[in-house]
Amino acid sequence: MLSLKESITPPATLGVLGGGQLGRMFAQSAQSMGYAVWVLDPDPNSPAGQLANRHICAPYDDAQALKLLAENCAAITTEFENVPADVLRQLGQVVPVAPSGDAVAIAQDRIVEKEFLQKGGVAVAPYAVIRSNDELCAAQSRAELFPAILKTARMGYDGKGQVSVKTADDLLSAWQSLGCVPCVLEKRLPLQFEVSVLLARGWDGEVAHYALAQNVHRDGILHTSTVPAPSASNELTATAQQAAQKIAEAMNYVGVLCVEFFILQDGSLVANEMAPRPHNSGHYTQNATLTSQFEQQVRAMTGLPLGATHQHSPTVMLNILGDVWFDENDQQRNPDWAGVLRQVDSFVHLYGKAEPRKARKMGHVNFVGKRMEKVVERCEAAMKTLGLSGGVDN
Ligand code: ADP
Ligand code: MG
Repeated sequence: MLSLKESITPPATLGVLGGGQLGRMFAQSAQSMGYAVWVLDPDPNSPAGQLANRHICAPYDDAQALKLLAENCAAITTEFENVPADVLRQLGQVVPVAPSGDAVAIAQDRIVEKEFLQKGGVAVAPYAVIRSNDELCAAQSRAELFPAILKTARMGYDGKGQVSVKTADDLLSAWQSLGCVPCVLEKRLPLQFEVSVLLARGWDGEVAHYALAQNVHRDGILHTSTVPAPSASNELTATAQQAAQKIAEAMNYVGVLCVEFFILQDGSLVANEMAPRPHNSGHYTQNATLTSQFEQQVRAMTGLPLGATHQHSPTVMLNILGDVWFDENDQQRNPDWAGVLRQVDSFVHLYGKAEPRKARKMGHVNFVGKRMEKVVERCEAAMKTLGLSGGVDN
């Protein structure tokens, strides 16, 4: 694999595989630094494709498209862990690619990922691999795994590709409902709270850590991230950051990496999954740190010095799903963005997706302030404006 000899500076062209919102915000950061950005994505209306200097609209394994990208980009990254890892490996033969195909291959398959984490000495939830009827029967006899969650090994996100499995008797129908594809069966753990570690690692091995984010999910989709994590002690933060750094080093990782952890009732730490890219729980960095995770991705992949990760304000990030485009009678409406922005120090980020659908990520709002209580208050007031029930932490 090609590594970087000297830094790649503007106005070079950077390539990104995937045209979703993460690619869009990456492109915005790269362009503001003076780079050109080419996006490869099969969707003609993708969020990143809309503002790329060039959108190559083709499948991720289209040989012609990959050739074009490799010939025109000084470095390539991905915003989507489900691009074929072999494509990244191939590109990595001719142009610097960060993160590498090998790292993405680990993160895109829960079976490989769990084995990798365990080998590195990082605890994961008790689990069984299910790829055959024999493995299914073996898992059924492990009473300690239930109640459980069955997750497809590949292609799952935002709670998709997961079913709850209360007892061993429910396992077969659950597996069938997922199409009998390779899965992991994970014990449902009693969570005290959830956190994520966001870090960046350069080609030279330099590591920069962001503050720990505390994440609340609704129906398997991230609802809010609060940073710094209000429930985490300094010791827990250090332990989680060290574990994530060890993982990054073991993969010889280059780029922004996010590792999600569960904190159990007894205070112990269990790694859930990792994302080989900027992460939804790191969106707050756009308004509450000096260097956003997207700019950091640009710096890491181009071999520039990493930017300061210092957080200047407490913050809450509120995810905006398509649900808020529908009123109580399911009539479509436009959310009251002006009302949201009436909260001081709130920042709306929308992804340019034409069609709002329920449970579809459409944007997020970052709230910052001097004191966390105020930030939470403002976020909850904005939730009311948008017709969202509950609060920041539920
Ligand atoms: P995704 O790829 O969709 O993010 P995750 O495996 O991270 O899938 O699961 C989404 C959320 O579901 C987690 O953040 C957590 O809230 C909950 N969850 C997942 N696995 C478990 C588990 N083993 N025990 C308890 N809650 C879980
Ligand atoms: Mg997750």
